[in-house]
Amino acid sequence: MDEILYYSTNLQAPEVNFEDALLSGLAPDKGLYLPKSLPYISDYEIKSMKDMSYAQVAGLIAKKFLASEIDEDALDEITQDAYNFEVPIEKVTGNDHIMRLDQGPTASFKDFGARMMARLVQYFLKKQNREITIITATSGDTGSAVAHAFYGLENIRVVVLFPTHEVSNMQRKQMTTLGKNVTTISIDCKFDDCQAMVKQAFSDPLLKELNLTSANSINVGRLVPQTFYYFYAYSQMVGDGGDIVFSIPSGNFGNLMAGLFAKKIGLPVKRFISAVNENDEFPKFVETGTYQKMAPSKNCLSNAMNVGHPSNIARLVAFYGGRMDEKGEIHKMPDMNKIREDIFTVSVTDEQTRDAIKNTYENHNTIIEPHGAVSWRGLEIYREETGDQTTGVSLETAHPAKFPDDVVALTGVTPQLPESLKSLDGKEEYIETLALGYDQFRDFLTKKFL
Ligand SMILES: *Cc1c(COP(=O)(O)O)cnc(C)c1O
Repeated sequence: MDEILYYSTNLQAPEVNFEDALLSGLAPDKGLYLPKSLPYISDYEIKSMKDMSYAQVAGLIAKKFLASEIDEDALDEITQDAYNFEVPIEKVTGNDHIMRLDQGPTASFKDFGARMMARLVQYFLKKQNREITIITATSGDTGSAVAHAFYGLENIRVVVLFPTHEVSNMQRKQMTTLGKNVTTISIDCKFDDCQAMVKQAFSDPLLKELNLTSANSINVGRLVPQTFYYFYAYSQMVGDGGDIVFSIPSGNFGNLMAGLFAKKIGLPVKRFISAVNENDEFPKFVETGTYQKMAPSKNCLSNAMNVGHPSNIARLVAFYGGRMDEKGEIHKMPDMNKIREDIFTVSVTDEQTRDAIKNTYENHNTIIEPHGAVSWRGLEIYREETGDQTTGVSLETAHPAKFPDDVVALTGVTPQLPESLKSLDGKEEYIETLALGYDQFRDFLTKKFL
């Protein structure tokens, strides 16, 4: 099998293989890596997935992307180990389903990308016999998924920065109770400040020896694994042929991007519904062809989706033949008609989000949380506006128990905590507290690690 090469969306960096794209995260020209060619999954292979477990489906697709760089037995081991939890798909009503991507160790769909990515990183590091440091800024879910995914792995340190007052108690404890190779840093600031410090660290020559890498969804190593659940949902819901539509609650647009890969490599997806909260820069772009970031971003109920300038938009633009730089400036327009054909975009208000949580419980006895509710309402709006009745799957990206206040207020039901979240209370927390400022952050890293 030919090796798949990855190019940078800024077109000023050399093409690299998956290993290099994974271990560097961002390309040297600050662009995002995109595969130059994609594998193909045949109808026959898709039909064969009907009787496979999640881990088996994952293994089949992983081999298509990676078999030229990782041997097949190792890939099977990695997928079995990464996906050792349930992936339930529930019929809600008529042709409408939800896929619960919330059964992993941090009860967030980010476990799907992060766990596989972590094992791939470890595989390559062992081969190269070197160490790396993953640094990531988080407003909640990314930090805990990444910390858990890399927890206890050799040759890898994890440093997570979080804004003291912007993460919930549960989200904080998910990261800070780990210890070992996971360092968490609390700073009294906004998420954007943490993000800016992480970015600065990447280009700091004094930190070069730390081999810094990013585990945000700018890393293509998270996107490839996120294609797997689209195939799995299809094989479970449609299986023998026919189309499917997916509704995706979008923030940084990694999830949608992975869906677009899945379609391109052969999955018969009729349309993606990209549902955002009131941070509606993407729907506006698709409607008008003009992109304007939302600054500052709006604080909506679905807090993991409060993103004013999603980094994966540059990737999406490149995927459709255009070019956008990291600041959001468009240098070449993508094929807007094709984008509109593939993606139905919709912005869902907080009021509609609350109604969706309330109504799905009252009418269908199904509990959803704010992110999944944006997606669910998006699917309903798609049905209303297009009349299309193709089998639909709405992605539920977090566990309702992570949002007890909203869920209890709207449904009267207290969602049961999954085991992984129950055990957090009473555990010791390991937290470093730093004052805001890049110099303090750099001093901390050099004293601790160099
Ligand atoms: C991160 C996140 C999202 C947004 O996913 P993107 O891939 O960034 O679009 C949606 N829901 C939840 C619960 C998340 O944590």
